[in-house]
Amino acid sequence: MSKEITSRAQDYSQWYNDLVIKGSLADHSAVRGCMVIKPYGYSLWENMRDVLDKMFKDTGHVNAYFPLFVPKSLFEAEEKNAEGFAKECAIVTHYRLKADPNAKGKLMVDPEAKLEEELVIRPTSEAVIWNTYRDWIQSYRDLPLLINQWANVVRWEMRTRLFLRTAEFLWQEGHTAHATKEEAIEETVKMLHVYADFVENYMALPVIKGVKSPNERFAGAEDTYCIEALMQDGKALQAGTSHFLGQNFAKAFNVKFSNKENQLDYVWATSWGVSTRLIGALVMAHSDDEGLVLPPRLAPLQVVIVPIYKGDEQKQLIDAKAAEIIANLKNLGVRVKYDDNDNARPGWKFAEYEMKGVPVRLALGARDLEKNVVEVARRDTREKQTVGLDGIAQYVDGLLLDIQHSMFHKAKTFRDAHVTEANSWDEFVKLLDEKGGFISAHWDGTPETEEEIKDKSKATIRCIPLDNPQEQGVCILTGKPSTQRVLFARAY
Ligand code: AMP
Repeated sequence: MSKEITSRAQDYSQWYNDLVIKGSLADHSAVRGCMVIKPYGYSLWENMRDVLDKMFKDTGHVNAYFPLFVPKSLFEAEEKNAEGFAKECAIVTHYRLKADPNAKGKLMVDPEAKLEEELVIRPTSEAVIWNTYRDWIQSYRDLPLLINQWANVVRWEMRTRLFLRTAEFLWQEGHTAHATKEEAIEETVKMLHVYADFVENYMALPVIKGVKSPNERFAGAEDTYCIEALMQDGKALQAGTSHFLGQNFAKAFNVKFSNKENQLDYVWATSWGVSTRLIGALVMAHSDDEGLVLPPRLAPLQVVIVPIYKGDEQKQLIDAKAAEIIANLKNLGVRVKYDDNDNARPGWKFAEYEMKGVPVRLALGARDLEKNVVEVARRDTREKQTVGLDGIAQYVDGLLLDIQHSMFHKAKTFRDAHVTEANSWDEFVKLLDEKGGFISAHWDGTPETEEEIKDKSKATIRCIPLDNPQEQGVCILTGKPSTQRVLFARAY
């Protein structure tokens, strides 16, 4: 095979990188931490975006677009948010280059083109948006304001990894404004459920819904809700966040409204986002040593048909049959490609489509045609079957659904087997080192203990699950009393 990939057992991290690069999802770029999303990877993102966009619109949201640049004074307005993001901000200080008099062919920053006020490249858009909402909101009649934007943001991350953590990433960010605290919290939780629904039903990836501990909270939020997923190496990944922002941004940007009693009050806010990190999650959670395994509902290509023939006469017969199958599949809304490129042999094509994670492959041979059958291979289990050609489109359509469900089931079985209780520090460390996954343990509730656990074990509190049962116990580190277990894990 032309594109050998490192196995998971050999080097999980390298395996992931190989998949992203050799699966044609993305490439590294000239700027460290920034990636080029290739057409195949972008098509996956478009499919995700289209589904999410519809879900947002179905829950009453509309799209808008706000600028990339945030004047530094605006950025500073909400102190906690500014402080939290300060260490990863890229700043524009000048707006012009000029020829360098001391170096032929080189350009230099024009010192005369210094901006009066520096511009922060948005790491998130609360500041720009709340500065605008002040003009848009006067009365309770203007609320709720339910706006989403699809955009890029920049966070100058030091340790980057393709898709999972990049310096520039694509995402959507919802920013909503409400008349009451209750309504804002309801929105925060609603969007968390929308994310969970998307990740489970489209990405085939089970998630745990919960609330972050104060240490892991979004800067400027009162509460951060999250969905946490588990990767095959036992590490957790934050797949999406939904923040209840209280009145923090309304106070920072002086956004008030007159309520029904004609009294002025600050507006309540939420924000929520998922990013191209989700592509990383998809790759890491489902793929195998042969390449990507993509869930049918998001796969850019769901079915590929490869003809196997000798000579023109056989080719023509197969072409005609393939055209019929394709028409039927397209009628059912299936994304299908016929690969009759005669520069590559069938075996090479099989490996290529396995690498790219195409859920179903049909190999249509001359002898098969005579018997009115076709070889159907599913990518997730790599099982092959000979299936009758009559009604093949319906069969394949059903198979795609079956693959979608069985991918979810497999990931859920794995995840469920990796949520383990620990009742002592030794047990906790042993589980982390030997098994990984989520560890459900008592914690005394203080940020200091959380920090110490992180320093000692590299595990963080991933979340306090929603509807967490109350249970008396003692903290695994300090032995102090605790009223509930929380979920710890080492995470990406
Ligand atoms: P936040 O605004 O920090 O709550 O993040 C919103 C979403 O973006 C979350 O789903 C994060 O997992 C994701 N995210 C945060 N930082 C990055 C990054 N550097 N690269 C890709 N995705 C990110």
